Order: sequence, then structure tokens, then C-alpha cells
Amino acid sequence: MNPTVTHSVDGEGVGWIVFDDPAARANVFTPAVHADLRAALAALAALPVKAVVVLSAKERIFIAGADLKWLSQLPDAAAVAAASRDGQASFNAVADFKVPVVCAIHGACAGGGFELALACHWRLASAAKETVIGLPETSIGTIPGWGGTVRLPRLIGAKAALGHILKAALLPAAEAQTAGLVDEVVPATELKARAKAAALRLAADGLPARTAPSAADAAVFAGARADVAKKTWGREPAPLAAIALIERTAGLALDAALAEEARMFGEVTAGEICKNLIHVFFLKDAVKKLTVDAWFPKPAAPAAPAPFKKIGVVGAGVMGSGIAQWCAARGHDVVLRDVKPEFVERGLAVIRGVFDESVARKKLTPEAAAAGLARVRTTTAWDGFDECDLVIEAIVENVAAKQQLFAELAKVVRPDCVLASNTSALPIEELTAPVTHPDRTIGIHFFNPVSRMALMELVLSPHTTRDTAERTLAFAKALGKTPVICRSSPGFLVTRVLFFYLNEACRLWEQGVPTDVLDGALRDWGWPMGPARLIDEVGVDVTDFIFGEMAHYYPDRFKSSAVCRRMLDAGMKGRKNGAGTGFYTYAGGKEALNPAMTAFVSDAKSEFTPTAKSGLSAEAIAGRLNRVMIDETKRVLDEGVLKTADDADFALLMGTGFPAFRGGLMRYARRVGVI
Ligand code: NAD
Repeated sequence: MNPTVTHSVDGEGVGWIVFDDPAARANVFTPAVHADLRAALAALAALPVKAVVVLSAKERIFIAGADLKWLSQLPDAAAVAAASRDGQASFNAVADFKVPVVCAIHGACAGGGFELALACHWRLASAAKETVIGLPETSIGTIPGWGGTVRLPRLIGAKAALGHILKAALLPAAEAQTAGLVDEVVPATELKARAKAAALRLAADGLPARTAPSAADAAVFAGARADVAKKTWGREPAPLAAIALIERTAGLALDAALAEEARMFGEVTAGEICKNLIHVFFLKDAVKKLTVDAWFPKPAAPAAPAPFKKIGVVGAGVMGSGIAQWCAARGHDVVLRDVKPEFVERGLAVIRGVFDESVARKKLTPEAAAAGLARVRTTTAWDGFDECDLVIEAIVENVAAKQQLFAELAKVVRPDCVLASNTSALPIEELTAPVTHPDRTIGIHFFNPVSRMALMELVLSPHTTRDTAERTLAFAKALGKTPVICRSSPGFLVTRVLFFYLNEACRLWEQGVPTDVLDGALRDWGWPMGPARLIDEVGVDVTDFIFGEMAHYYPDRFKSSAVCRRMLDAGMKGRKNGAGTGFYTYAGGKEALNPAMTAFVSDAKSEFTPTAKSGLSAEAIAGRLNRVMIDETKRVLDEGVLKTADDADFALLMGTGFPAFRGGLMRYARRVGVI
């Protein structure tokens, strides 16, 4: 087999170590790659080299880290710890090499890639935008295990190192330099020459003198623990392990510290939560390769899908303005329509607000935001719709209104224009029945808020053609969204499963489970918020409306709860505009149980039976609600609405806040033997 790491020596006595896995797009570390690195070092050690430069031949990725497939399949903590010791040994061979070693980073340098860089004596990074650097291990449930928890604190200090490891972010080159992760940032075209110059300089002048950073005190670690507790409720072992490890190894000699890192890396990485989070990582990664092939026969002569350029959006409410903003920010010309000038103006104000926020959060430059805003035209008629390649409707969730709209639209758009609905639940073929080209209809279900939610359900009606689906999928990916493809069916996946779950939660409440017990049980299980709190967030009115839709489409199984209707009758709509009331009150930005809800249940006329406390344990409550979600998802899969359980797990993770550390609903169900 060809080695993935090759070596050479140039005319001036500089050794070159080049990572390039010929069989893959990215370089990653496996035991074989570590062995190749050690072999390259051993070969160079036998030659008269003055210094060595390490680099990657890949265009976009320096080294992406460990091979996660290999890592997640190691049998137990001892095997993972041994793999850690093996990798540490090759990076120690770099650090202890007889002459200076310079790392020349271009492209993503993550995890093990950056741990290799840390073992080198000098680090240069290219200023290219694909160069990003850091230790993202805690985001997949593990910790750096090839020296990162030891070398980074010794380079930039324990407090700063902990900050990076807990944040798990990859920094652009300039930020990495400011943070002390790299020594020099140079233009990509000069990287090799500048790395060679640095290597020769170090060979002549000796290794750089680095002052040891000051030690962190106990308060730093206590503060980090408190932050992690707030974020993860202590459920994820990796961040806590990183804190404990950095605290414990600060005063140890290098090898004792590395031995401790290997031990803890083994424990954390062999654990179930790490395996779950790595699985979630693969689910997200798979979206990049998503095609429509599972849904349509392969075409005889595949052609690249024609891109949508100009987008029409109908309805300038919550969703329409969000969709218009997102499309314009991604370079599309957009025309946004509503029925009254004041509605259009309100939508435009929302769009302006999202652009302003993107500038404030440094996601966009002021110039890019201004250009994006200028790409949005508005109308109360149909001006500009005859030029659209795609029109997305986001008007009220009502079959008759949407049908009438599609009938009108069909008369104004070009015959090749694709017509899409953003409905959250209604079957696409029902809404688009009046159109002349049903082959060019599809559902594009964005989630609220569009600027924050990456998930998108692409909904195929029985008439949607491969070409329409392919063009829409390409559009979704170009928007930076993560789509799942499903067949049109009431509620698709996310709305259906989520509202079966919320309805069951309401039924439990009606049977005497108090709000705090109900929400506490689901939060304990890992949800970011419990179902009652989620209903307040979604809106009691929206929830009640969707319960009605579900009861209409699934009359045999959806036994609608009544509490949301009662709340609406009493004027409680949930957390609207910050200070509304629902299961909770939110006055002055403070969240508290709403006493009016207790009054509801003690009301003599109440149809609920709650004074008798239900007595269900938190475990039983979570178990019952999980079961409802699992059963409904299984039906969705059996009906062929989605192709795979992984698709369902991915959509529920992205669309409902299902806790990632559980690895996905159906994965969880399989593990506990429910399916
Ligand atoms: P909204 O009430 O905020 O906005 C609807 C807008 O459509 C209003 O401004 C209304 O004036 C306008 N409108 C009505 N008829 C029109 C017509 N014929 N031509 C042009 N404009 C018209 O509603 P929303 O929350 O944005 O929801 C819109 C759609 O998106 C619905 O189908 C809903 O189910 C779906 N959806 C909503 C959410 C959410 O969380 N709000 C999430 C996903 C999908």
C-alpha cells in the first residue's frame, strides 16, 4: 500500500514530510498513518537534515483529525487508551526530533491535525479562508487524546486552552494567531517558501524561547465547571473530563500528563455518549452527499440541475420574511408579496432586523448586508413574479386559501417555474391541485426562525419529478440548509411526530401531572426544554391549530387534548412578544409557573381530573412520551414517508431539539429494545 506520509530532502538540507492520502478527500489519522509518520521521521533522522517542514498536499484540508469510524469502533476503554498512547508516541517523535520541525498549515487543521502541529516547534498558517484551526473534540463527546490537553495549556495557559477545548470551535488563521495557536500567518501562495525560511532560521538560531504561561488558579476550573453545568446539565462527560484533566496534569511532567490524558481519553471515548455524538456527526455529514436517487429511477443521461436564481415569496409574515431574507443573503434576487402595503412593510422591517443582527454578530459585513437587503423587492401585486425560477408560498395555513393562491400563481409565473409551499403539515398535492404543471410542485418546509434553523423538509408530492426535486435539493444545499427528503403526507415527519408528542404531554397534564413535574422529567431526560415550555414557545394558538390538523388527518389515533383550547379561551397564547402567558408567565423577563393554570384544574367545571396527583415518576413520564414519538416515527417509516431511520433521527435532532447525546430517537429505541 502507498504510504499516506512521504518524505524527501531538498538541496538546502530541509526535510519535507507530506501528508496525502491518495484514496481520500481528507487526510485523517489512523494507526497506519501514525506508523507512516514515524517511518518518515525515522528515515529523515538517518539523513543529514537541518530542519523539517510538515505539510499536506490536500487543497482544502490539512488534517481533519482522527478517523472517527475507526475510533468509534474500538472495543473498549483500554483499546482507546492504547490508540492514544500510540498517537502520542508519534507526536513525541516529532517534538523530540533531532532538528527543528515546522508545521505549514493550509486548510482545516482539526483535532489530531492540530495536535501534530502543537508537537512541532513552529507553526505557520495560510491566510486562506479554508484554513481553520482548533480542537473540536468535545463537540463529538470526546477530548483531545494525542497530547492536545497537555501541550495547548503549556503553550497558551490553562485558562485559554480550556476555553478553546470547551468551545470546540475551529478558528480562522488570523484569530488562531491572536490566540497563540499559530506563530505566523502568511499568504497561501507563500506558505511553502515561508515555512522553509522559518525552518532554516530555526536551524541557524535554535528553537524559539517561549515563556511559560502563568498557572491557572482553582477559580478558573470552578468557573469552567459551572459554565459546563449550565450548558450540559452535567450529562456529557467530555467537557468535565477536559477540565479535570487540565487541572490535574498542570503540574505533572510531560509523560505522566500524557499517560493521564490517554487514560481519560479511553474512558470518555469508549462511552456510549461519545459513540452517540459521533453517530450524529456522521448523520450531519451524510447530508452533504444527499441525492434524490432513493426516490426516483436513475436518469439515462444525468444532467446538472438548472439553478434557481430569482425567487418569489408569497406572504410576508413570520416565515415569508425569514425565507426572503435568507435567500437574499445567499445572493438570490427576491420578490416578496403580501396583500397590503403595511404587511409588506412589516415584513421588510423584519428582514432589515435580521440583516442588522447578522452584522452585529459579525456573520455579515455591513456592505454584504446592505447588498442583501437591496436584492429584496416587494409588491402587493404580481410584479416580478413572471421572472421567478421558484416561488415559495408562506401564507396562512389553510387549504382553501393556499389552493386559491396556487391557482392565481399558475397564471402569472413562467411555465418552467417551480412552485413550492412552506406548509408545515398540509399534503402538497392537495394544495397544488389547481396548478397546470403539478410536476413542478414541491414542499420546502423551512423551520422557524429561518436564520437559525438549518433543517428543511423537502416534500415530494406524487407528481414531483426528479428534475424538480434535484433543482430544489441543490437550492437547499446552496442556501446552507440541511435537507431531509420525505414523501407528502400530513405533517410530514417533524410536525407529525412533534405534535403527537406535545398532545400526549397535554393529556398527561390533564391527568394530573403538574407542569413543573412534566417539564422537569423531559429536561432530566435531556431535552433543552420540557413540552409545556415548548408549547409556550411555539404558541398555544399554533399548537392548538396543529392539534386540530392532526386530529383531522389521523382521526383514529390522534385523541386531541383540550387544555390548549381552554388556555386560548382564557386569552393565554404562550410566550408571544416576550411577556405573554401560557403554562408559564414571563413578566419582566422572568419565567414562573402560571398560577392561572392551577386555577384551571381546580375549577369545578373542569373536564380535567387533576386534583388526584398522577403519581407518575419522571422516568415513566419520559418513557411514555418517548414511546409516543417512537411509535409515530415507526409508522412514518412503515408508510414510506421517509426512507431510513437515520433520516428520521437526523430530522428530529435538527428540528425538535431532541438531545444529541442520545444519538437519535430510533437509535435510542433500538438500544433500549423498544423496536
Ligand atoms: P403569518 O400569519 O405570520 O404570515 C402569513 C402572511 O401571509 C400574512 O402576512 C398574510 O397577510 C399573508 N397572506 C395571506 N394571504 C395572502 C395572499 N393571498 N397573498 C400574499 N400574502 C398573503 O404566518 P407564518 O407563521 O409565516 O406561516 C406561513 C406558512 O408557513 C404557513 O403555512 C405555516 O404553516 C408555515 N410555517 C410556519 C412556521 C412557524 O413557526 N410560524 C414554521 C414552518 C412553517
